[in-house]
Amino acid sequence: MKFRGRISNFISSAAVGRREIETHSSEETIARGREIGAGLKPPVLVLLSGDLGAGKTTLTKGIAAGAGAAREDDVTSPTFTLVHKYEGAKRVYHVDLYRVGDFHDLETLGLEDIFSENAIVIVEWPDRLKLRTDWPVLRIDLEHVSEDVRRIVIDDAEKSPSRN
Ligand code: ADP
Ligand code: MG
Repeated sequence: MKFRGRISNFISSAAVGRREIETHSSEETIARGREIGAGLKPPVLVLLSGDLGAGKTTLTKGIAAGAGAAREDDVTSPTFTLVHKYEGAKRVYHVDLYRVGDFHDLETLGLEDIFSENAIVIVEWPDRLKLRTDWPVLRIDLEHVSEDVRRIVIDDAEKSPSRN
């Protein structure tokens, strides 16, 4: 299914639930990320799931750029550093938990303050640890379809009711 219609501002408007798009190049994924990032209203937690190479970091380039926090080329994978911070019109934290082992939580990782700031927090491999927050959550699942094709499922159904 191809994405049709407006994607921007879906966080601030009524819940739209699930959207599915397909991209055919990393540039197209970045462009979709830009649209998502432009519509995000901090605070918001963005959870990016999908295998290695599914395009999570590529999508993040677009989200951070669309949010006005960074140029897409400045966004690199925080696989080894755990977290990168980008500051512009909005503040974006990009977290990659791929290398985080078991028995970790935000405190032991030094990330306990990440939800105290008015930011967009983007997390790759979010299932690696329990993330407790009352922030609205945007879930995005990326799937490798073929060499240059990715299916991206965007689900904002879990946004906090108190923020409607
Ligand atoms: P992840 O962070 O999920 O491990 P990356 O974004 O780092 O994935 O890597 C995705 C790789 O797939 C990049 O090398 C990118 O160029 C390539 N790619 C090919 N087609 C696409 C697409 N449609 N969307 C995103 N990335 C793509
Ligand atoms: Mg990555």
